Amino acid sequence: MFHRDEHGIYRVPAFDALGWIEHGFGSRHATLWRDDPRVVALRQIHSAICVVADGRPGRIGEGDALVTAVPGALLTVRTADCIPVLLACERRRVVAVVHAGWRGTLQNVAGAAIRSMGERFGSRPEDLLAAIGPGIGACCYEVGPEVAMQFKELFAERDGLDGRTKLDLAEANRRRLLAAGVPAARISVAGLCTCCRPEEFHSYRRDRAGAGRMTSAIGLRP
Ligand SMILES: [Zn+2]
Repeated sequence: MFHRDEHGIYRVPAFDALGWIEHGFGSRHATLWRDDPRVVALRQIHSAICVVADGRPGRIGEGDALVTAVPGALLTVRTADCIPVLLACERRRVVAVVHAGWRGTLQNVAGAAIRSMGERFGSRPEDLLAAIGPGIGACCYEVGPEVAMQFKELFAERDGLDGRTKLDLAEANRRRLLAAGVPAARISVAGLCTCCRPEEFHSYRRDRAGAGRMTSAIGLRP
């Protein structure tokens, strides 16, 4: 579903097909957006705060989701295991980027971005395309009950959340998108685990303090 381009960036065919969007999920080899003067970023704080970018570049505040309808701005998040999510509204030409670790997923940062797209720009969830990028997979993401138990509503079908267990953060975010009204057929999921693939991705869980970060980005072409 995703394909890797010659710059080491994973792209989504459904987003490519729009034509008016620049987007992608960077691997550890991607250098395309480094030093790009269009980059807009936040100081990421594992929150559900969504900031509307007006086109001014640089680090524009604190939070974990960015939304814009201004062509030229390149919205970015940096991750190393956390889940990056890209959103695009076909009807209103609005885009958003989301950083969702376990805290942001619980606080529903993806839902906050969708709400902001609606309130500020009139986007409807059914018109959105969504892509869930590479992040730590259920294969590698073992957590204790103090974290797992907080997911018992999102994973109501699961037993064993009261002990050490594996969590699927990408699936948790997919469920957040579905609950917000994004149609299942309009959600693309990378299914790539950052921890399993050291040759391709940074991973905080694997590399700890030495871990680098990958950049994911989306913007409207001028
Ligand atoms: Zn894995």
